[in-house]
Amino acid sequence: MTSTADVVIIGGGVTGASLAFHLTGLGVGRVLVLERRFLAAGGTGHSVGIIRQLYPTPETSAMVLRSLRVFQRFRDVVGSEAGYVGCGALIGVSPAMRPKLETTLAVQRALGIRAELLEPDDVARVEPRVDPAGLGAVLYEPESGYGDPTAVTLGYAGAARRRGAVIEQSAEVVAIHQAGGRVTGVTTAGGERVDAPVVVNAAGLWSPGVARLAGVELPIVIGRHPVFVVERDPSFGGPHLVYLDLAGGSYVRPETGNLTLTGSLTDDEAEHPMDPDLLGGEAGFEEASTILERTGRAVPRLADARYRRGYAGAFDITPDWMPILDESPVRGFFIAAGLSGHGFKLAPAVGELMAALIAQTTPPVSPAPFAFGRFTRSTVAGTFVASYLR
Ligand SMILES: Cc1cc2nc3c(=O)[nH]c(=O)nc-3n(C[C@H](O)[C@H](O)[C@H](O)COP(=O)(O)OP(=O)(O)OC[C@H]3O[C@@H](n4cnc5c(N)ncnc54)[C@H](O)[C@@H]3O)c2cc1C
Repeated sequence: MTSTADVVIIGGGVTGASLAFHLTGLGVGRVLVLERRFLAAGGTGHSVGIIRQLYPTPETSAMVLRSLRVFQRFRDVVGSEAGYVGCGALIGVSPAMRPKLETTLAVQRALGIRAELLEPDDVARVEPRVDPAGLGAVLYEPESGYGDPTAVTLGYAGAARRRGAVIEQSAEVVAIHQAGGRVTGVTTAGGERVDAPVVVNAAGLWSPGVARLAGVELPIVIGRHPVFVVERDPSFGGPHLVYLDLAGGSYVRPETGNLTLTGSLTDDEAEHPMDPDLLGGEAGFEEASTILERTGRAVPRLADARYRRGYAGAFDITPDWMPILDESPVRGFFIAAGLSGHGFKLAPAVGELMAALIAQTTPPVSPAPFAFGRFTRSTVAGTFVASYLR
């Protein structure tokens, strides 16, 4: 069977769903999302969902601020709940990192981001359970916090459907067709052929394989990032703030049911490649204990928390830990991938930016830092921590 669409989006994670919402908002007619399994089945459904605003470039800072404003009014903008909890976030840095933090803070503030530099001894004023020993400074972002990536995906998908988009689940794209250097459509595992002048690779952890279907190589590594869940002791008190300890190498974010999600902020995930189909697999207790020791140093009263479980997550990582949001060398074949562990908090702005590129309207921020070709021009290397400060 053959059908037609104006835009085919491959992948029903938060990126693809946000893009479908924004494209239909710009009046693009027939938008079709093809999702291999079910909405949010990939990295999105395994995400920790932290929303922080410390980013090293003006473009990413502007995007995260635009996105935050959407999460804060998600019901008005999209018509459902985002699970946004603006509990505030603290970001602790070492004395050596402090000058960079001060420079970045100036950029953040110029863009209208609310953030305050705290001396380590003043942290207790905001979150007394954080241990400031060894820190050079702590950034306090009162509007940051976390959200629910699955709820955001389902919300965007539902709103896109109401605007006319079609979303097919259990629909794996197995071929991408092209003629004369232009994309012409896709075929699914079920044998459905869809002719379309624009195809978008929003396949997240599977984006390198999807790009290869069009003969395009992406400089993206799928790197392992395990997450651990602990149950706080009742004596701990109420939920804590989100705390990202860049000096000690761990993060914590509260979850309902007295739970805390935690993971590493030091490992270079790019050096731990993972098969994306192992997503969600059990993470070992040995692996957990290294991270939980760090968490216990950052927030000593979490040292008494009970270990509940750990699972394998993964990031789609580019060499500079920033996404590729651009048309590929195959005309009409766009890439919205390589979100490098930031794809939830940036999703509203990523969808908005990609929709503008495809519909050829003015993008909300410059797309230049996210260009497909940037990696061939210079050798760039980074770590997750460098995606906060450079
Ligand atoms: C453990 C973990 C913690 C994270 N923590 C945070 C955080 O705190 N804050 C933050 O902002 N971000 C975080 N992220 C990152 C963020 O969640 C991701 O960047 C984002 O969810 C990626 O969304 P996506 O739609 O680009 O990709 P995905 O969610 O991976 O979606 C891609 C979709 O494409 C589908 N697909 C694959 N191949 C095909 C095909 N051939 N045909 C059709 N469909 C296909 C997949 O089934 C999948 O549903 C985290 C991620 C993980 C895994």
